[in-house]
Amino acid sequence: MDATSWRLPRRHAPQVSDERMDLSGAFMTRITDLLSAADTAANGVSQVTQTVRAGIECSDETGCVIPPLHLSSTFAFRAFGEKRAHDYTRSGNPTRDLLAEALAELEQGVGAVVTASGMAAVTLSGYLVPAGARIVAPHDCYGGTYRLFEAWRRRGEREVEFVDFGDEAAVRAALARPTALLWIETPSNPLLRITDIAAFAALGKASGALIVVDNTFLSPAWQQPLTLGADLVVHSTTKYLNGHSDVVGGAVVARDQTLHEELLWWANCLGLTGAPFDSYLTLRGLRTLHARLEHHARNAHELAHWLDRQESVRRVWYPGLASHPGHALAARQQRGFGAVITLELEGGEAAVREFVSDLSYFSLAESLGGVESLVAHPATMTHAAMDRDARVRAGLTDGLIRLSVGIEALEDLRADLARALARAARLLPARPLRLAARGS
Ligand code: PLP
Repeated sequence: MDATSWRLPRRHAPQVSDERMDLSGAFMTRITDLLSAADTAANGVSQVTQTVRAGIECSDETGCVIPPLHLSSTFAFRAFGEKRAHDYTRSGNPTRDLLAEALAELEQGVGAVVTASGMAAVTLSGYLVPAGARIVAPHDCYGGTYRLFEAWRRRGEREVEFVDFGDEAAVRAALARPTALLWIETPSNPLLRITDIAAFAALGKASGALIVVDNTFLSPAWQQPLTLGADLVVHSTTKYLNGHSDVVGGAVVARDQTLHEELLWWANCLGLTGAPFDSYLTLRGLRTLHARLEHHARNAHELAHWLDRQESVRRVWYPGLASHPGHALAARQQRGFGAVITLELEGGEAAVREFVSDLSYFSLAESLGGVESLVAHPATMTHAAMDRDARVRAGLTDGLIRLSVGIEALEDLRADLARALARAARLLPARPLRLAARGS
């Protein structure tokens, strides 16, 4: 069969709606609104439908509804010098291509490269700038990204400046020098700081930078950075896009053809492309993205507001809380507030140990975005790659806990957290709790 018949027919990109979340409205209305905002498309093809139907009925020959898995590492030439659409799976594979095309459509890009991990996607985007080039990145970016950029800096492979993106003067000062790549991660991990993508992209472009946004925490269903001025979007598909915690994968989506071709070249050259089976599973997971996110969002919203009222919780970070410093920006820039909640307990690390010691429905594990709820201690887990000074500068204290809220029954999750808070609170001296100011 001609491998070209596996190409997903190019569908019309969805129109970005101007509708925003109604902050005063009832929560369920907002969730419905945000999903229907993604669902409105003048040409009649909604993002939800695109996601569900990615790769469906892609073969005229067999008529199979669900695309098959092409595990073959190599593809026979038709004849001497006559290559088919695919020749070798590192360079291209029909199953992986379907996923890449689906992700490009969802992000409104022209093409995507599916990589073996989110870190492979970070690495790949870093190869689009030359050796010695200057990168500006947030000081609280994902720990693995920080480790890679820092390693490049130490080896003299890139010049890297980590900046507090909450400090506008510092960002302007950093971008006053010519910059090759501006790295944006919003919401940030784990404090969920929100960066104004359009404003930063404008500043970065004035400095000559390629604008790269890590959109892992929201997915294209909730945020589309290319429509806000980004050149590349990076994903750890390990998270919401696959959604079932059974694949490690990544992707980079390009705004234009030239960038896409450069990505394809480097991904093949460096051997960063993802495996066909992982692509198959991720495409399968992707179909339920919007349905999953609706449940994730509802649970996260309810738990964040509930946690924020608990005496033994010193502070809650969740962009959907009015007290979150990035709340208004998130409401403007995103179609959903996400499903990660970070909290700090009274009692520091000792309280964290107690809190995580006997949870029933939050597995103590790194990662996020799966259907199951997880709890992580950033200082010793996700951000252990950052040295202590860097963590402190980024505001990552030892008492922080990050929750990835899954789609289990809300009541079970809340009861589990209530028991954990009660356990942790037993360590506190008998005194009136919550002396510290909340919010802000
Ligand atoms: N970017 C972000 C924001 C992440 O949270 C992660 C992993 O947690 C990565 C990139 C790296 O992804 P992976 O673990 O799939 O390599």
